[in-house]
Amino acid sequence: MIIAIDFGGTNIKIGLVDEGKMLAQTHLPSYSERGLRARLVVVEQEIYTLLQRQNAALPGCSGIGIATPGIVDTTRRTILSINNKYADAVGFDFEKWAQETFALPLLIENDARAALLGEVHYGIARGAKDAVLLTFGTGIGTSAMMNGQVIRGKHFQAGILGGHFSTDINGNVCNCGNKGCLEAQAGHWALSYAVKRHPDYLHSELSKLGILGYGDIIHAAHNKDVAGIDVLDELVAHWSAGIVNMIHAYDPEIVILSGGLMKSQQFLLAALYDNVNRMSWTPWGEVEIAVASDPDASVLLGLSSLFDSTDNGSVH
Ligand SMILES: [Zn+2]
Repeated sequence: MIIAIDFGGTNIKIGLVDEGKMLAQTHLPSYSERGLRARLVVVEQEIYTLLQRQNAALPGCSGIGIATPGIVDTTRRTILSINNKYADAVGFDFEKWAQETFALPLLIENDARAALLGEVHYGIARGAKDAVLLTFGTGIGTSAMMNGQVIRGKHFQAGILGGHFSTDINGNVCNCGNKGCLEAQAGHWALSYAVKRHPDYLHSELSKLGILGYGDIIHAAHNKDVAGIDVLDELVAHWSAGIVNMIHAYDPEIVILSGGLMKSQQFLLAALYDNVNRMSWTPWGEVEIAVASDPDASVLLGLSSLFDSTDNGSVH
C-alpha cells in the first residue's frame, strides 16, 4: 500500500492505494495561491485520519507518491518550476519531508504524467503503449508515453508543455514567456479575455457573470448567445489545434482528454473529433480519442504504478 497525494490547483486529493486499487480517498481545499508548505501540516493530519479509517498504520505503507503541476525533477525529487500555483514549492525537499515525517521513501511526478500512467495502467487507455493526455482545468496540462515509457526528456519537460505549444503567433503573451500558447488562448484563465474582446460582449449574457468557467461559455452558446457561439467556436479551434500538435509531436494511438472541461463532453467531442481527424497527418488511420475514466482517481493510481515500475524517474 502507498500513500498518494495529488496537489491540484483547487483540491489536494489523498488516497491509500494498493496494487491499483483505491482503498480510501479524501480531499481538502488547496488554497494553492497561498503556497504548499503551509498546507503540509494539514495534509499530514489527513493522512493519519485516512490510515485510521482504513485500520492501517504507517509500517503497512511502502512509500509516498506526490503529483504536482509544473516541471518536476523526478531524480532529485523536487519541483524545478511552477506556473502561479504553489510558488513556494520550488526547491522544497519532499524526500526529506517524507523521511522525517513518515520515515517512508518518496517518489514525485508531474500531475499530467501521473494521470497518463493511471489511465494507461488502470483506466480508459489500459494496455496502450503510445498515448498522450491533455487535461483541461485551470491550466492545460499534457503528457506523453512512447513505446511504453512516459517521456521526461533531458530537463524533465518533455511531453508536459503541450499547453504551451503556440496556437496563435499573434496571440496573448503567456506566463511562460511564449506568445499565443494554447493555455493563453483557450485555458480557463483566458476565457474572460476571449469573451470581452467580442463586439457583442455588452449584449451577451456572459457580460453579467463574474469569473467565467468553460461551462458558462458552453451554456451561453447553447442559448444561442452570439458572443457565446463565436467564443466557443474559437475555443474548439484552439483545443483541436492543441490536440493535433500533441499527435504530430508524439505519434500516439490514443489521445486521452481529461479535466473539468470534460464535464461538457457531450457538447464538444463530435466537433473535436472531426477537427482533429481532418487536421492531423496520420496516413496510417485515425487516432482514437477517449475521455479519462475517472480523473479524480487516475493521478493517485498512476502514482502507485510508479512504485511498481523501474521507470519511475529515480535513475535518470
Ligand atoms: Zn505558455
